Amino acid sequence: MSTVHLHPSLDNGIRPEQPGFSGGTLQCLCATDKVEVKVAAQTLHNHACGCTKCWKPAGATFAVIAVVPRDKVSVVAHGEKLHIVDESAVIQRHACRACGAHLFGRIENKDHAFYGLDFVHTELSPQQGWAAPGFAAFVSSVIESGTPPSQMEAIRKRLRELSLEPYDCLSPPLMDALATHAAKQKGTYREA
Ligand SMILES: [Zn+2]
Ligand SMILES: [Zn+2]
Repeated sequence: MSTVHLHPSLDNGIRPEQPGFSGGTLQCLCATDKVEVKVAAQTLHNHACGCTKCWKPAGATFAVIAVVPRDKVSVVAHGEKLHIVDESAVIQRHACRACGAHLFGRIENKDHAFYGLDFVHTELSPQQGWAAPGFAAFVSSVIESGTPPSQMEAIRKRLRELSLEPYDCLSPPLMDALATHAAKQKGTYREA
């Protein structure tokens, strides 16, 4: 096994997604009175993320995060424990005050390209069958959280071994989606 540690759900082998899987619940890490969030759909664009804002379990270098339409996300237990980590951030991350786990991240700016999608960590779910991660985003940013730059070559090699192509921003399809949205707002968008 590789000595490079990325995230428990990557290091111990990526679970394949189950065809027809239609969602489940996310639970915070508290031993009792867990915050519970229902996600009533399979997730999209699941990926490893090296940015400094996504929630990571203790000791992990990367977060693993996916999106799902916001109307599929609902708090079903102990919502009183949730708070928004940073009200001024584009993605408002709703986290458990007691254990710190992020249950969902929501974009409230209707003009944002990803408005309507919530960000979730399906590792917080007892169910299996969620979409598997498909790429790694913001890889260079792990240096900002304390990873020595000298480890980056080994980290990118390990990500490729896991078939998670490393990108230093988002993946090309998601960068294209952002640019398409920007072009439409500017009036420079052309179909073909
Ligand atoms: Zn908690
Ligand atoms: Zn991130």
